Amino acid sequence: MSDNEEILVIGGGIGGMTAALALARQGRSVLLAEQAPEFGEVGAGLQVGPNVMRMFDRLGVIEPVRDIAFFPDNLILRDALDSAELVRIPLDREFRDRFGYPYATIHRADLHAVLTAACAEHPQIRLRTNCKVVGVEQDERGVRALTESGEELAGTALIGADGLWSTVREHVLGDGEPRVTGHVAYRAVLPMEEVPEHLRSNSVVLWAGPDLHLAHYPLRRGELFNMGAIFHSHRYQRGANVFGDPEELHEQFKGVCGEVETLLGKIDEWRMWVLRDRDPVEHWSKGRITLLGDAAHPTLQYLAQGAGMAVEDAWTLAAQLDSAPDVPSALREYERLRSVRTARVTLLSRLYGELYHASGVTRAVRAQMLEGWPAAAARESFAWIYNGI
Ligand SMILES: Cc1cc2nc3c(=O)[nH]c(=O)nc-3n(C[C@H](O)[C@H](O)[C@H](O)COP(=O)(O)OP(=O)(O)OC[C@H]3O[C@@H](n4cnc5c(N)ncnc54)[C@H](O)[C@@H]3O)c2cc1C
Repeated sequence: MSDNEEILVIGGGIGGMTAALALARQGRSVLLAEQAPEFGEVGAGLQVGPNVMRMFDRLGVIEPVRDIAFFPDNLILRDALDSAELVRIPLDREFRDRFGYPYATIHRADLHAVLTAACAEHPQIRLRTNCKVVGVEQDERGVRALTESGEELAGTALIGADGLWSTVREHVLGDGEPRVTGHVAYRAVLPMEEVPEHLRSNSVVLWAGPDLHLAHYPLRRGELFNMGAIFHSHRYQRGANVFGDPEELHEQFKGVCGEVETLLGKIDEWRMWVLRDRDPVEHWSKGRITLLGDAAHPTLQYLAQGAGMAVEDAWTLAAQLDSAPDVPSALREYERLRSVRTARVTLLSRLYGELYHASGVTRAVRAQMLEGWPAAAARESFAWIYNGI
């Protein structure tokens, strides 16, 4: 195999882009291969914790990220049936001082555009679209990625940032399809002026109900309003670019309080995601090939940290490749540094899903446990995430 020193990054989502940027900032040459004809993101908003804003600062993109972000006032949990407020965490100066960075919400497409522009400007990064990788190989001197069009890309290391349906994972772990969780997400974004004034909250609000929840928050400096409705369903379609069935949604949300009903009624066209994750694994590298982001540890979105973990992975991986004596030991150390933290996010995301979707007596227990919980204590329960790496 070749002695090409380039690092191959497979996949140009948020994880792949940040990996390319982090590596190039360490002086590495990167070739990023994306299967789609154009770079971009399908989907709506992202919540971005202070741990991730810290990474954006280190990657040199904090200013353009701030320009496109919205900085919500609070994180609020409410009961979707009786509209009672259960928890409120102010995202105020005290929160920023505590974790060093603010909590933001960002349109995925905006964030992806910032990262793509930063990569495109970097002389050490080559970006390729229409470049679907169908196989990978390695020996002691290097790696090779085989593309659908029959091309061979050579490098010194290969990072599979190719998401939930990762081809690279198939080579490294071969552990089959991700787990169907029985949850689906309907997502939509609408102009802020279409939201009734009394429901235009400047906070991230999560309305928790039996086997369902609705989350909403402003995006893009407050010009847009993002909504995500999650519920238990028997749909199993693969892929992200599917229209949802509003009838099923309204059927599931029958009986919710007036505010939630009004908000759901504002949207005619939803995009649907069938939510999947995997049981965490300790190892996801093999020789000179490793995984990152959803390819390594796909996670339910209940802690809003999947993309955040991909960004932290990217930073850690670049740091290890900079300091370790050789590629395989750098990848092993990267995986050691990331596996427990990402597994904790995956496992706790499932638990938070259960807490949000509680019904009957479990819902009553939730209300009792959260009653009178001081805001500072609620904030500190997330310190392990927001303190970052
Ligand atoms: C409903 C929902 C809400 C969420 N909310 C949040 C949130 O608020 N905050 C948060 O941090 N996270 C959130 N997440 C999680 C987050 O979206 C993902 O964790 C994140 O997008 C993963 O990024 P990635 O780069 O690892 O993978 P992806 O975004 O899936 O990118 C993979 C890329 O690889 C490309 N690719 C795939 N196969 C190949 C191939 N063979 N060859 C070349 N290219 C290939 C794909 O086209 C794609 O561009 C949410 C997820 C969902 C479903």
